[in-house]
Amino acid sequence: MDKIVALCKRRGFIFQNSEIYGGQNGFWDYGPLGTELKRNVRDVWYRDMVSAHNELLQPAGAPSTFQMVGLESSIIMHPQVWKCSGHYDLFHDMMVDCHACKGRFRQDHIPSTPCPQKPSKCVGEHTGCRLTEPREFNLMMKTIIGALGTDDDAAFLRPETAQGIFVNFKNVVDSSRVKLPFGICQVGKSFRNEITPRNFTFRSREFEQMEIEFFCHPSQSREWYTYWRDRRYNWYLNLGITRERLILRDHHQDELAHYSVGTADIEYAFPFLDAGEYGELEGIAHRGDFDLRSHMEGKLAKNAAGQLELERTADGQPKHRGSGKDLSYFDDQTRERFTPHVIEPSAGADRGTLAFICEAYHEDQQPDENGAMQERVVMRFHPRLAPVKVAVFPLIKKDGMPEKAMEIYGELKAAGLSVQYDQQAAIGRRYRRQDEIGTPYCLTIDGDTAKDGCVTIRDRDTLQQERIPVSKVVDEIQTRLKG
Ligand code: ATP
Repeated sequence: MDKIVALCKRRGFIFQNSEIYGGQNGFWDYGPLGTELKRNVRDVWYRDMVSAHNELLQPAGAPSTFQMVGLESSIIMHPQVWKCSGHYDLFHDMMVDCHACKGRFRQDHIPSTPCPQKPSKCVGEHTGCRLTEPREFNLMMKTIIGALGTDDDAAFLRPETAQGIFVNFKNVVDSSRVKLPFGICQVGKSFRNEITPRNFTFRSREFEQMEIEFFCHPSQSREWYTYWRDRRYNWYLNLGITRERLILRDHHQDELAHYSVGTADIEYAFPFLDAGEYGELEGIAHRGDFDLRSHMEGKLAKNAAGQLELERTADGQPKHRGSGKDLSYFDDQTRERFTPHVIEPSAGADRGTLAFICEAYHEDQQPDENGAMQERVVMRFHPRLAPVKVAVFPLIKKDGMPEKAMEIYGELKAAGLSVQYDQQAAIGRRYRRQDEIGTPYCLTIDGDTAKDGCVTIRDRDTLQQERIPVSKVVDEIQTRLKG
């Protein structure tokens, strides 16, 4: 993992936030290549889930055809949203402090390895630590709106993008003529005051989510849950994550949120975890009608019979009042009115990006110009995700080669491809620079180009080199990128 973190900094994927001031714990910045990579992760997700989705065709495994639309809601919402969603009362972790070492831990994340030299890692009675009683700690970040700054002006930065979708459910139904079943998709920043941010970007305080709320008829919700669970798992496999490092884990009954009929996590064997341990990339939850009902009626809780009902204070008043608006759905074919059930595939863009980085990292040996074996670091990103798609090199800086290379570079740029031009250093070193950032294809313009009108295309993974006509370069790269 240390090598991956070092590469991320050296080649401009990920930087510590505010590094020149010593850093801000739990916050990260993406450098030029990281920005391209993460943008590709988001764009590929949005394209696969929304833009390229054909609502006229029934995808394999889906119970029926369905529609998918996008939404972009704001980060700060009405405080009542969080009271009704349950986040205000329930979105907390249990926190313990150590009297001796002053370390602060999530109660379920107390490190198991005693380490007296590193106070932040010492644990329990092993090392003389004395832990406080666990205390609740709400993970929502507070902010103040307006000039007065009183408690009445307090608001929260959203801890998930999902609630923006639920409160807009009626707006989307009324404005876009979508019919059930359909999904609303949103990509955006979320904030959580994590007690112990750690493991690089895996647990950050500011991060980005890619969430789908899929609305369906209650009688079909189990089938849709299974569909989304499998489809989302395959999405990672199709982008190059290997099955050996990716699991689909169904939650045990006692792990389920009180409203959930079923939840599964897609988890990845990150290299910073112990063997056999996995970290969550995405959760797929069957949420029943909990969210829409909460925003209609108010905060819900389970009664003695296990049914959801409005939670009330001791004097019988609703604990948190809902909007009172009707968020049910009317099916004009069956003439039925009901509150839809929701399946929620909720993915982290930063965790996904980190998994793609970890998966891509490879070391091998390649001969240099003199035939001596050299260690090569190669990032085997899926071509759709690679931050740079193609690099263009003139073999030498004379005989018209740079001019031809610049012309090809210009054509690739005009086609909207992320491309780099490099004429510095020996050709082998230029290849290695591109391998280290995961560029799938390199084009070399050499002495023969002027005669035969061809350039050499070299494949990052197979290392195969072929001659292709200059006139076909853009088409060839675009075809190869589609896979
Ligand atoms: P964890 O148990 O790891 O704290 P969670 O179950 O609370 O995660 P969800 O509320 O299901 O996470 O959020 C959906 C997705 O958002 C997660 O699968 C993850 O990819 C991402 N996510 C959640 N918290 C963080 C975080 N602190 N940093 C980066 N990504 C996060």
